[in-house]
Amino acid sequence: MAENPLFAPSSLPYQLPPFAEIREEHYLPAFERGMAEQLAEVEAITGSAEPPTFDNTIAALERSGRILQRTATAFFSVVASDSTDGVMEIEKRISPELTRHSDAIRLDRALWARIKQVTTEDPEEAWLLEKYRDDFVRAGADLSEEEQARLRELNEELSRLSTEFAQNLLKAANDSALVVTDAKELDGFDEARIASLERDGRYVLPLLNFTNQPGLAQLTDRDVRRRLYTLSVERAPRNFGLAMRMAKLRAERASLLGFPDHAAYRVADQTAKTVEAVEEMLDQLVGPAVRNARKEAEALAEQAGFAIEPWDWSFYAEKVRQARYDFDASAMRPYFELDRVFRDGIFHAATRLYGITFTERPDLRGYHEDVRVFEVFNEDGGALGLFALDPYARPGKRGGAWMNNLVDQSFLFGEKPVVLNNLNITKPATGPTLLTYDEVTTAFHEFGHALHGLFSEVRFPRVSGTSVPRDFVEYPSQVNEMWATWPEVLANYARHHETGEPMPAELVEKMQAAEKFNQGFMTVEYLAATLLDWAWHRLAPGEDVADAEAFEQKALEAAGIAFPLVRPRYRTNYFAHIFSGGYSAGYYSYIWSEVLDAESVEWFKENGGLKRENGDHFRRTLLSRGGSLDPLAAFRDFRGREPSIQPLLERRGLV
Ligand SMILES: [Zn+2]
Repeated sequence: MAENPLFAPSSLPYQLPPFAEIREEHYLPAFERGMAEQLAEVEAITGSAEPPTFDNTIAALERSGRILQRTATAFFSVVASDSTDGVMEIEKRISPELTRHSDAIRLDRALWARIKQVTTEDPEEAWLLEKYRDDFVRAGADLSEEEQARLRELNEELSRLSTEFAQNLLKAANDSALVVTDAKELDGFDEARIASLERDGRYVLPLLNFTNQPGLAQLTDRDVRRRLYTLSVERAPRNFGLAMRMAKLRAERASLLGFPDHAAYRVADQTAKTVEAVEEMLDQLVGPAVRNARKEAEALAEQAGFAIEPWDWSFYAEKVRQARYDFDASAMRPYFELDRVFRDGIFHAATRLYGITFTERPDLRGYHEDVRVFEVFNEDGGALGLFALDPYARPGKRGGAWMNNLVDQSFLFGEKPVVLNNLNITKPATGPTLLTYDEVTTAFHEFGHALHGLFSEVRFPRVSGTSVPRDFVEYPSQVNEMWATWPEVLANYARHHETGEPMPAELVEKMQAAEKFNQGFMTVEYLAATLLDWAWHRLAPGEDVADAEAFEQKALEAAGIAFPLVRPRYRTNYFAHIFSGGYSAGYYSYIWSEVLDAESVEWFKENGGLKRENGDHFRRTLLSRGGSLDPLAAFRDFRGREPSIQPLLERRGLV
């Protein structure tokens, strides 16, 4: 039998995982060996006769667990993007084991005793040492044996529930898909779209991961819209129960760790630091956002000629845009061809700003044939890393878009970064892949995360690239969205896929004018989700929720954001960010990061926009530093002052 490819470092360029050789049966043995190896490494650290030093303790921990790291990276990339029943079985089995493993290290008393004795004068080491101390305390290193035993139980059950939550959702995308037998019911979709939905004589429209399904903007049959919307908000009903249980367990864990609730626990190591800081910000936004949405609702009702329902919002929003701004969003699609958006848009902007260039490497493979790999070079020709792109939706892929590292940059291992972007664009049966304006913006956004990973120049993997607080990580990616509509960039990539004609200037102008409409809706649906996340995680320990849907409603009312026409972007039952994605009590991060984003966009504009000097300054002061220092100090180095909320309020029309 051939050797398990996960046991040894990859021999591919940049240590890209050898996906073509990895088979499902390789994962479990590699996880087992990886965990055993790391425990042995930790034992060697604690068993050392030498006094604890940074190198023999902290750096040694950074060097530990290489097989496990490789295995988890490859496995969870496949779980997220190309899952199968077999992979889901492995995930179910391995998730609680991984939680036990991580607790075994962070609750190791001998190890903790050594970490507490380490000292260092070097600032980068001191910052990392502080991170380790904080990680260990937050994981329960200072608790009694009895408390730690309970903590282990809580972590394990939470890990199980979170896997189940995600798997229920993956199934629901298809199980709760809209199914129609008569193509007439899909009136509003173009013929190619309808053809792509046909399966065995029926038409199946799978659900995307958020409340407001994009089809609602086009489907002319009101009853079909109602059905689609209802399927969306009522999907995966078993997840309500899982969410209640998770919120309760999280509150108990927070209390064990000395915090009043899970939200307080979660924000303590973020840039926000306190629940009051988060609430103070949200309070400023709710009132004006709801007022804007109400005004928009009036315009929609006027357009419709009747009192609209939630499933009518997108449809009539498009109508108002057409009437008021003479703008039709679908007119843009022929100008947004996938290849061109990347080559002449996203990559082009990065070349102009940072001097970097891209060469496709068809010889390098991902976990699926649709994954494309590009080698990235600095202006001087030096190798920077690899960028992998997985653009298409598929049945085994989670909803949404995201970036993750396949290899973390670090000087410790002399490794260059390998980063992956996932999008969920529908693959056409034939012909070019045309994107919506939203999809283009999302692609620029995810590439902003990719740059954060690619430009990383730090010593230690723990603080590499995007390893920054959740409420900071969205900031560089949001900044990169600005180049999607930057005139020189847009003119370069937005060309008709058949004629090569540039997008007409008036279409761009109309789009920018029309963008201002529906800001109220978008801010309210986002804030409602944020406040729902917040309510679940401000529950006091022992507080019971009997009915998740009633809780949801009451929470929105109490926060002043209950507006029947605009439901949260995610309801409890499909809020993957917070129940399976690491964003619990952290969904506020997007708007929190947007403060820094809006400030930075101002800075670029004040300094002449798309220029090498500007890109270099952003790269040097911020993007290259990863989590190797206080992120707000990096922001101050970039901007030259403390952040102000004003640019954000103006951008969102909330002043
Ligand atoms: Zn993001």
